[in-house]
Amino acid sequence: MHNSYSISRNTFVRHGDGEVSRSIFKQQVTDVSIEVNSYCNRTCIYCPNSLYTNRLDQNIRIDDSIYDRVVGDLAEISYDGLLNFSIFNEPLSDRHILERVRQARKEIPDAKLHIFSNGDFLTPHYLAELQQSGLNALTLSMHLDKNNIYGQSGIIAAHLAIGKFARKMDFSNDCVKCLVESENMVKWQVNLSNGMDILAHSWIKNSDGFAGLNTRGGVVAEVVPYRKEPRKEMCLNPVWTFSINYKGDMTPCCHIRTDIPDNNRYVLGNINDYDSIFSLYASSAAISWRRAMASLEEKKGPCRTCDQDLVPHETAVVVAGMLTSLRR
Ligand code: SF4
Ligand code: SF4
Repeated sequence: MHNSYSISRNTFVRHGDGEVSRSIFKQQVTDVSIEVNSYCNRTCIYCPNSLYTNRLDQNIRIDDSIYDRVVGDLAEISYDGLLNFSIFNEPLSDRHILERVRQARKEIPDAKLHIFSNGDFLTPHYLAELQQSGLNALTLSMHLDKNNIYGQSGIIAAHLAIGKFARKMDFSNDCVKCLVESENMVKWQVNLSNGMDILAHSWIKNSDGFAGLNTRGGVVAEVVPYRKEPRKEMCLNPVWTFSINYKGDMTPCCHIRTDIPDNNRYVLGNINDYDSIFSLYASSAAISWRRAMASLEEKKGPCRTCDQDLVPHETAVVVAGMLTSLRR
């Protein structure tokens, strides 16, 4: 979440100037996610992949031309924010990730290259290769067996899972430190001498469901807690994040899976139809979405159940004033 963040009025205004689009993107976007492949080997119950199993069937890599475009455009603005290689895929299932990371490191040396992974494919050698390719950070989800995710038994299962993983990875006992142990989540830090930031976590189910997880556009609202009243609060995720799925589609945020039935209408545009990621970010559809999310009106569709971070009060006041002036 951004505690101190300056929002440009142009983020919410349609204009046709490529230079302006580039500079807005550079100023606003700090978190880019690119789904480099489609496959995931798991079907976690709090993930849309448990309901739409097409991610298990085959692995489709994002086109090189799309990847080249995204990384090349980020290089143009000397991007120094976060670059994630996953949305609903398992990036380490395809060793082509090493080439993707190497390319990104070379072209955008100041970016923080980060992977979310379930850790299933990771080995000590693979980790060393990722580090040599230029990866900065890994966040590992220690997903628990469906029968082992409740209450105290879930917490015990989580510690057993990280212990098993640490043995597989030859981590010494003292490099894994538990940071949080709560009724809905256990989180660890892995301190290695290779300079990579590594965090791991497990989600535990309690009487409220999976507190702290997102309904993923309402798709898994049955298994994670969700608000009884529709969301009215402002969401600025579509301002500071930019997400492209394996088809090259821009999704409104990383929570909305647009390759499932009925969700295709939420695609904000395909990179192949734009001359740059900057013009896609500045498209009419993307601006309309950002304006709708920045309003204090009731959120519809995939955003109705979303509990994504609330915007700091001072920022919300500034943005609300901006939108009011734009309506005049
Ligand atoms: S939560 Fe992660 S590992 Fe689990 S199904 Fe979804 S993408 Fe795959
Ligand atoms: S409110 Fe909508 S746009 Fe914002 S994070 Fe949630 S699903 Fe994404």
